[in-house]
Amino acid sequence: MASVELAGISKRFGGHEVIRGLNLSVPDGSFTALLGPSGCGKSTMLRMIAGLETVSDGTIRIGTREVTHLEPKARGVAMVFQNYALYPHLTVAENICFSMSLAREPKAKQREMAARIAKMLHLEELLERKPAQLSGGQRQRVAIGRALVRDPQVFLFDEPLSNLDALLRVQMRLELAKLHNDLKTTMIYVTHDQVEAMTLADQIVVLDKGVISQAGSPWELYNRPANRFVAGFIGSPA
Ligand code: ADP
Ligand code: MG
Repeated sequence: MASVELAGISKRFGGHEVIRGLNLSVPDGSFTALLGPSGCGKSTMLRMIAGLETVSDGTIRIGTREVTHLEPKARGVAMVFQNYALYPHLTVAENICFSMSLAREPKAKQREMAARIAKMLHLEELLERKPAQLSGGQRQRVAIGRALVRDPQVFLFDEPLSNLDALLRVQMRLELAKLHNDLKTTMIYVTHDQVEAMTLADQIVVLDKGVISQAGSPWELYNRPANRFVAGFIGSPA
């Protein structure tokens, strides 16, 4: 577990500044949602925290360490994407344990870990299947399992449920809430879906064109929106 602190973060692509002097504090163990319309810079923010994108200005701290210029795997984060790619030729168990097999961890340890994670994500019966034999929701659980196996200090989710149908999305929301409750690991969750943010997060950060429009609890945003943009986005009367 660890807090995440962003100070003065900017990001320019060519001459286009998509994140502008952003400061953000994500408390240790919190579930923070980054909420905003398409193109406002959510994925770019997450990718900079993960180290998949460089920052133009500013610093990033995770726990007690400054990680601004560290490579992704040295940051103690694991990311789950919207278009999660599982290895089609590997079983569920092998997909979950892929990073362990790369690290040449003993097979017995991998089996034990796969079983533990499968239990947490209700995948016990599916460990020997291939991705093609799974439903969308089951595949997304395997993608989450692959992040869990790395035992990160911080989970980063980039719209992980947006490819699922409405019913599965509701179910997976509950499962993510339970996962956070069980693990108590810091989670930063990108979404353009205000209902998802309102039901999952203890802190919501509303992004508008690369700046924070408001950050606060769901209650604060709903009852005390700082401006029309937030009010419109959260859906309470302005
Ligand atoms: P969101 O995830 O909120 O939809 P993004 O972070 O993907 O938004 O994108 C924010 C802005 O940055 C957009 O205008 C997008 O076109 C631009 N952008 C993102 N990645 C790149 C890139 N690699 N090169 C140039 N522009 C980019
Ligand atoms: Mg995005």
